[in-house]
Amino acid sequence: MLHAIVSGITAALFLTLSAAGAQIDPRTALLERAGWDAIAAGRAHDAAVAFRDALSADPKNARLHLGAGIAAALEHRDAEARDELEASIALDPKQTLARAQLGQILYRTGDVAGAIRTYELLLADAPDDRDAQTTLERWRRESALNDRMQQAIGSHFTVSFEGPAEEPLATEALASLDRAYWRIGQVLGTYPAQPIPVVLYSTEQFRDITRSPSWAAGAYDGTIRVPMRGALENQTELDRVLAHEFTHAVVRGLAPRGVPTWLNEGLASALESESLEWAESRVAKARPVPLRALTSGFSRFSGAEAQVAYATSALTVSRLLAEAGGPAIVNLLHDLGEGQDFDAAFLHRIQRSFADFQSGR
Ligand SMILES: [Zn+2]
Repeated sequence: MLHAIVSGITAALFLTLSAAGAQIDPRTALLERAGWDAIAAGRAHDAAVAFRDALSADPKNARLHLGAGIAAALEHRDAEARDELEASIALDPKQTLARAQLGQILYRTGDVAGAIRTYELLLADAPDDRDAQTTLERWRRESALNDRMQQAIGSHFTVSFEGPAEEPLATEALASLDRAYWRIGQVLGTYPAQPIPVVLYSTEQFRDITRSPSWAAGAYDGTIRVPMRGALENQTELDRVLAHEFTHAVVRGLAPRGVPTWLNEGLASALESESLEWAESRVAKARPVPLRALTSGFSRFSGAEAQVAYATSALTVSRLLAEAGGPAIVNLLHDLGEGQDFDAAFLHRIQRSFADFQSGR
């Protein structure tokens, strides 16, 4: 989503740049231009390098800090992104783009109150920004809901829920999450050390806050978010959804970026339950989907397309787990999170080229 925001603003930004870019030396101007071009092309690392070089020549330039902040955000280096965006705003308090980005980073890292304050300041400068208004209202609803919630605290998870009526459900969820923690931890040979936040919602709250597609049974964005209606009556479904989202939390902990969607969703779908019969029967009835069509998010898919995408990913990762083992996949995730090339990392960690693995022989 951040990338969509960035692409949208880059065109507008170029106009501002050409209008304002007077007192900047030519080399720095070239680096800045290269930085924005790289952001527009989705090459976050190149952008980060260009803005870093430009900043060493012109450290008090608010736009360069903005660019460095956006590049860091795209690479999920959130603490650095926050520092750069705050530096940009300190140098030029009218940097509404920096405020917009900063708000998104604060929200993404769980600081809803900080995100709200940032968007209030943004809207004070840009009162006609309808998207920002809608986002701010949604965050305020979430914050008000958070204030009403109670928490059940375990060693590995903190489960928030609304009202005493849901307390048995929260206890049930905590127990289910703990089972997933040990079972999946054992398969992968890795156990998250930090407690993972989990929020139980009504169906309406879940759709409002996560804006997930209607087929989604859960979401993970640093917090595991789950709609709970009917969940208690169906223990198997509760276990499945929580194990799935927990796996996403493990993946994010190992690799905050660079993970193709088929690998991330495939791990979550392969580890959510013991049986993969659902995936086999789904794939048997559908035209095969190449993995290269499954590298970016699935939320663009219809329900039926999404089922095939998840089933294909689950079967692929299940084969990868059987061939290479969980710890090899964990090492692959580490490499991807550090920005290594996928094919090179795959060959190194799985001891087989990705093309060869895909051919299935
Ligand atoms: Zn998922």
